[in-house]
Amino acid sequence: MSKPHSSQKKIQAIRGMNDLLPDQSARWQYVEGTVAALMRRYGYAEIRTPIVEQTALFARSIGEVTDIVEKEMYTFEDRNGDSLTLRPEGTASCVRAAMEHGLLHNQTQRLWYQGPMFRHERPQKGRYRQFHQFGVEAFGLEGPDIDTEVILLSARLWQELGLAEHVTLELNSLGSAEARAAYRDKLVAYFEAHFDRLDEDSRRRLVSNPLRILDSKNPDMAAMLADAPRLMDHLDAESRVHFEGLTARLEAAGIDYVINPRLVRGLDYYGRTVFEWTTSALGSQGTVCAGGRYDGLVEQLGGKPTPAVGFALGVERLILLLETLELMPASIEDTLDLYLMPLDESAEAPAMLLAEELRSELPGLRLQLHCGGGSFKSRIKKADKSGARLALLLGEDELSQQRVTVKFLREARDQQPIPRETLAACLSEWLAQAPD
Ligand code: ATP
Ligand code: MG
Repeated sequence: MSKPHSSQKKIQAIRGMNDLLPDQSARWQYVEGTVAALMRRYGYAEIRTPIVEQTALFARSIGEVTDIVEKEMYTFEDRNGDSLTLRPEGTASCVRAAMEHGLLHNQTQRLWYQGPMFRHERPQKGRYRQFHQFGVEAFGLEGPDIDTEVILLSARLWQELGLAEHVTLELNSLGSAEARAAYRDKLVAYFEAHFDRLDEDSRRRLVSNPLRILDSKNPDMAAMLADAPRLMDHLDAESRVHFEGLTARLEAAGIDYVINPRLVRGLDYYGRTVFEWTTSALGSQGTVCAGGRYDGLVEQLGGKPTPAVGFALGVERLILLLETLELMPASIEDTLDLYLMPLDESAEAPAMLLAEELRSELPGLRLQLHCGGGSFKSRIKKADKSGARLALLLGEDELSQQRVTVKFLREARDQQPIPRETLAACLSEWLAQAPD
């Protein structure tokens, strides 16, 4: 005999992967809608790529010795034995798709994407194993004008969400690959001279990815890191001119920034401009948006050399920030206008038709029809619980007199009989008024 159902352990969601419940979805739609509208205004077109890619795509683009590729990817063999990976970020897929479909051939592209990303990290507030990003990628443009544009786009987003005063733009330049290689040697020499001050992680990175040591949050290393040689002081001439072009444009546009010479990104494909928008309101998960220039990536993935710049923005962190600062507009709460209630079984079919008619007459109306029968008392309870502002009652009397009874669920007002012909007009008038 099989075990009784109740003794079986309930299956739960994967750790670090969140359900988005109905009381949260209006907030997500608000943020998603704001971003999508903004992208359109800047002339960026949406691209959607599969969530799963060949593992080699990420290993080759993000870099074999990055945290993401070394220990955070969800990699598995499919039934054919191919190594596949749930995408940990969006840029590699975007480049792969753009190359595959010839979007980079003799043309520029301004693209954006959104969707879930997957990294096997230690879950905590603002850090999850499935999280969501918005991103933009601009291809085929090498000057600092486009770096400025993507930063201005993000700055306008903060403005529209009311966050402008709560985020800081941090900038750095990683220079050319040659300047970086020369700097890397200087940096390694410095770290070797201070080897006793390096933590275990940093000692490992000394060989694999010494620039990333600069990004360490370990307070014991802060003083030593502060005195480390700065890449800013070793930039090649072209990268310096590019960076000055960017800062001059940002200044002209009135965008404040701070230069953070220790800002490096966790992905290997960046060069020249890198930037982050950070906040102090989310503890250690303070980076809301991060990006930069990755002129070498297309070629690295087998395409023609193509300059590129972009950023990715963490949606969970953005929403957390809006909630923490109480900046979610009250108007986005998606409450019902009407709960339409047949009073007995014989009114159920006419109520269904009336609901459909009203939805045609008032396209903006949010109407829920009572289903499932029940006593009058339980119907009224459900009407109240629905959150609707008004209940429409339809019974024998109402049907015979071609009218409905309107009950005000949130206002101290007597219920009213309304003739069917004037119902739509009355409803739109009442619903346009703020409840008293
Ligand atoms: P962090 O330094 O916080 O780990 P990162 O350098 O790994 O970030 P990117 O790969 O540049 O981040 O991703 C861009 C943005 O995506 C981050 O700034 C952050 O807002 C968000 N993000 C990254 N990883 C996560 C995660 N595990 N959970 C939630 N959001 C994330
Ligand atoms: Mg990370």
